[in-house]
Amino acid sequence: MAALGQPRQATYDAIVIGAGIQGSFAAYHLAQHHRDTLLLEQFILPHSRGSSHGQSRITRSAYPQEVYARMMPDCFRLWERLEAEAGTSLFRRTGLVALGPAGNPELEGCRRSLGAGEVLDATVLARRFPGLRLHAGEVAVWDDTAGVLFADRALRAVQDVFRRRGGTLQDGEKVLRIEPGAVLTVTTTAGVYRAPRLIMTAGAWTGALVAPLGLRLPLQPLRINVCYWREKEPGSPSADRPSPCFLVLGLSQAPRGIFGLPALEYPGLVKVCYHHGSPADPEERDRAPLGAPHPDVALLSSFISSYLPGLEPQPAVVETCLYTNTPDEDFILDRHPKFSNIIIGAGFSGHGFKLAPVVGKLLCELSLGEEPSHSTAPFAITRFPGVLQAAL
Ligand SMILES: Cc1cc2nc3c(=O)[nH]c(=O)nc-3n(C[C@H](O)[C@H](O)[C@H](O)COP(=O)(O)OP(=O)(O)OC[C@H]3O[C@@H](n4cnc5c(N)ncnc54)[C@H](O)[C@@H]3O)c2cc1C
Repeated sequence: MAALGQPRQATYDAIVIGAGIQGSFAAYHLAQHHRDTLLLEQFILPHSRGSSHGQSRITRSAYPQEVYARMMPDCFRLWERLEAEAGTSLFRRTGLVALGPAGNPELEGCRRSLGAGEVLDATVLARRFPGLRLHAGEVAVWDDTAGVLFADRALRAVQDVFRRRGGTLQDGEKVLRIEPGAVLTVTTTAGVYRAPRLIMTAGAWTGALVAPLGLRLPLQPLRINVCYWREKEPGSPSADRPSPCFLVLGLSQAPRGIFGLPALEYPGLVKVCYHHGSPADPEERDRAPLGAPHPDVALLSSFISSYLPGLEPQPAVVETCLYTNTPDEDFILDRHPKFSNIIIGAGFSGHGFKLAPVVGKLLCELSLGEEPSHSTAPFAITRFPGVLQAAL
């Protein structure tokens, strides 16, 4: 430990900025590759100011976009490995139904990603899952691999294994400045660190961190309302056999982007949220006027009345979380175009948790100059024109 008042000074093989799920997995893979790694987090852990907190995230094989569907088997395998390494359960299999009108292209994409996923019509769905009602012409694609990842527990597990492999995690230490070079210098509120490679996984703060490095990334932080709805009959269906997760890909009376998870975290409360929110500065996320009407909550209430009649149509709990979206909602996993030893993982656009084991692996591989185990071409920074600003 540094003497009081003395900034810490140390040199590592790698530095990772941001101990959310992406940075923690990047650090975990670096430590597995025997790289002496420093993981820096601005807040004292655990915290709820970013995107990785809370009890639950959906994971699934059903993905309309092939690029993510191809990564999912590797993700399931790596989540299982982490469970074994940490000696704790991180996943509850519940299955998932993707809901939409018959023939919807995204629904077809989900079906393809499952090989040939089972399609349930409204009658079969209501028989199998009485809580869910579809309207005429609407169907569900069934993904029986899907379920819930225990988010907070997963974050702690990956950080614990990282530390057990010799990694250094320093929280309550904000990165203030990055000086590029063959050996980079990172200045924080408590020290100055050097390393030949740096991974930036700073979530909603990434835009501000990369701006002094001459990059203007099109990242939009969004404030998301995380809503929980009370079951009219508590415990239905049952704690032993929870209802499935669901994903709305467009319905006659509800837009694409509503998703739900069974009552696992708060007894009797089902999590149903909308995949869109309002633009927010991560430093001022709580400035939203208290008591102001939330259009997304009204939309969710109407969806619940129409499709989930077993729930009270007013939310019992509303929490907040941040998304960081790119314009196409695909991730950024790439080198800095000018400083090739700075690797950026950002823009997870509200669907990055389940993919974090593979995201972390790709970021680690990029930073070590290894061939990435999945193509990172779809995640290139240069797909956005004009991101590189004046030379430093
Ligand atoms: C309501 C909600 C529901 C979601 N549901 C799902 C789901 O069902 N399935 C799914 O796959 N995904 C889901 N997601 C998305 C997923 O949770 C995110 O994609 C993921 O958590 C992003 O992780 P991250 O590590 O990029 O960001 P974060 O968790 O925000 O981590 C970034 C970290 O960097 C730190 N940091 C920033 N700046 C600095 C600095 N200067 N110095 C040091 N540290 C810094 C921050 O404090 C933060 O801890 C959901 C997200 C939300 C908000």
